[in-house]
Amino acid sequence: MAARDQAGGPRVLLRRLRELMQEPIDPQSRLDRIVRSIAQEMVAEVCSLYVLRADSVLELYATEGLNPGSVHQAQLRLGEGLVGTIAASARPLNLSDAQSHPAFAYLPEVGEEAYNSFLGVPVLRAGRTLGVLVVQNRTKRHYRDDEVEVLETTAMVIAEVIASGDLVRLARPGMELDLTRPVRIDGVAFNDGIGLGHVVLHEPRIVVTNLFNEDSDAEAGRLEKALSSLRLSIDDMLSRREVAFEGEHRAVLEAYRMFANDQGWVRRLGEAIRNGLTAEAAVEKVQSDMRARMQHMTDPYLRERMSDFDDLANRLLRQLLGRGSEDIAKSLPKDAIVISRAMGAAELLDYPRDKLRGLVLEDGAQTSHVVIVARAMGIPVVGQTKGAVSMSDNGDPVIVDGDEGVVHLRPQPDLEKAYAEKVRFRARRQLLYRELRDQPNRTRDGVDIDLMMNAGLLVDLPQLAESGANGIGLFRTELQFMVAATFPRTEAQEAFYRSVLDSAAGKPVTFRTIDIGGDKVLPYFKGAQTEENPALGWRAIRLTLDRPGLLKAQVRALLKAAGGRELKLMLPMVTELGEIAQAREIIDQEVRHLSRHAHLLPNVLKIGAMLEVPALLWQLDELMAAVDFVSVGSNDLFQFVMATDRGNTTLANRFDPLSVPFLRALKSIVDAGARTGTPVTLCGELAGKPISAMALMGIGYRSISMSPASIGPVKALIRDLPLGELEAFMADNMSGAAATAPMRMLLQGFADEHALPL
Ligand code: PEP
Ligand code: MG
Repeated sequence: MAARDQAGGPRVLLRRLRELMQEPIDPQSRLDRIVRSIAQEMVAEVCSLYVLRADSVLELYATEGLNPGSVHQAQLRLGEGLVGTIAASARPLNLSDAQSHPAFAYLPEVGEEAYNSFLGVPVLRAGRTLGVLVVQNRTKRHYRDDEVEVLETTAMVIAEVIASGDLVRLARPGMELDLTRPVRIDGVAFNDGIGLGHVVLHEPRIVVTNLFNEDSDAEAGRLEKALSSLRLSIDDMLSRREVAFEGEHRAVLEAYRMFANDQGWVRRLGEAIRNGLTAEAAVEKVQSDMRARMQHMTDPYLRERMSDFDDLANRLLRQLLGRGSEDIAKSLPKDAIVISRAMGAAELLDYPRDKLRGLVLEDGAQTSHVVIVARAMGIPVVGQTKGAVSMSDNGDPVIVDGDEGVVHLRPQPDLEKAYAEKVRFRARRQLLYRELRDQPNRTRDGVDIDLMMNAGLLVDLPQLAESGANGIGLFRTELQFMVAATFPRTEAQEAFYRSVLDSAAGKPVTFRTIDIGGDKVLPYFKGAQTEENPALGWRAIRLTLDRPGLLKAQVRALLKAAGGRELKLMLPMVTELGEIAQAREIIDQEVRHLSRHAHLLPNVLKIGAMLEVPALLWQLDELMAAVDFVSVGSNDLFQFVMATDRGNTTLANRFDPLSVPFLRALKSIVDAGARTGTPVTLCGELAGKPISAMALMGIGYRSISMSPASIGPVKALIRDLPLGELEAFMADNMSGAAATAPMRMLLQGFADEHALPL
């Protein structure tokens, strides 16, 4: 077999297909002849094409070799059988004994019993799965790589036939290919908020229609030229002033530069051109192959990097087609909801923020770079939405519900109305919060509360002014490390911290030294061996004290960035006071070093510890004496006090942080602070929920730090709060026999009684 064994190889097949596409025949005959030609050229006994319908069913549209009566009859759901598996995963399947594969589904009407070997490839167009193309043979054989390549290339041609709309006439009534039905897709909530708008399919903005080349050498030349401009444009981006200071973008772009010079990628592009494709079709093909491989990678870091590669391929396509990224902004609706399989962080930044209403990802995780950036931009995100790309079309109305993790495509008018009302309600509340922004954070009975926000990326910083927070109570410095491809150099860290302080414009910022380990993995850092209990393992201050080079570099960068200003440094996961002393030693060394070299030092340096490990609860006075301030990390403290993994969804709501024992622990900390005159803040998620913020104030907290979106709701509560009354109420219910009452319910009752906005 193998088209390649014959003179001309896949080019012969491509030429034949091109002729067929131009012949004036009816669409069914065209498809029939296409599958026959593929079967002939590939010496396969069967060649079949399944097309994905709008109702997520794959219908047999043409076959050579199987029962012709089953055309437009045989069907499989997305994910069902081998064909459904290929469509759902967008990945080829190459099997010598198809019927013994666990996913094999028996369809009696097609008559495929005699065929053992099976090769199926997804029909992809600009990232969307449109169908599945299959060849089968009687003999048990494994198809060679070059055969897979031929079938994949052919599938690209078929994608054009499907996308041309020619096949619509073949659809049975009620089973149209056009995408008009309302669809609800359940995914995972990655960032809350509600977005109403219109679909912008992320990848289809570049659709390659010119597939076949006339002259391979000329195409190779075009590719080389486009690659050089791509490399230049990345170098150019990297040398721009704003990028030099923007740590997270820079790291992403540096990885791109590496990829743009990747020999394997360039070689595969060249091969595809030699097989008869144009330069842009070659890029599209290699990109699809990569994407298909990416689907099955479980390592989150590699998946992330593959998204960056995808991004790069898109940029290359733009070079080849002479389209700039400005075109994206121009053609965007004013309420764009971007839907994509996966995405690089830099790609999201190509979309203008004022037109973005939401993001839907078929893939992705809470910790994907693109999700981190989207969260910082404050747009609702739903991920893990199987089939979202295939089921939607540009311009479709869509709702992203980032609270529930649901996407409604082409919603019914009633649903749309209900959501629009929800959005209006939120907008009214936002307006109220904005009005409150410049009002003091003062309770009804006149007590001032320090409301701070948590941050970690530069994109978070505009929120400092917008939310009206008093400062940044927790700056998670590890985020810069997490979005980077390699360890950020000291200069990059320094530039980043300086721009954070510049943007904070005099409001206080508390930088936490790098808190990696546990669930925060740096893929480029070979740290601990696999740990059984990473949350209890080698992380945060434990790790940085064992790798003092890391801590030294960071402290130096922070000291230099804060020259002439205040620097607040905070150590995560402290267990013993000795760790604070050791860290102080390192900080002192750096201060001495910089002053020897006549660097401008911070005019105030404060060192604090995070209270996240219960052991510190029994040495509170000593702790307070050893630091300038303490910040309670309630996320970690709660997981350790209650022996409950903070990431375990099964246990997520089992134990209540507002239970009396945990509140007593929190109270003992703030009491010790008051006793010793040491400022105490709390910066875990607990601070951001109005009811728990209320509880914290009720036991004595006067400073709390939360995500920017929580500032408004918490502030609205504070301004109505009779704090003295609440303190007495809580004290009564936290001691003696009363302490067994469910505190959350009592607090809810208190709020209802005083008409507090929870
Ligand atoms: C905490 O543990 O409460 C905290 C603020 O730190 P992180 O969530 O980053 O572990
Ligand atoms: Mg923590």
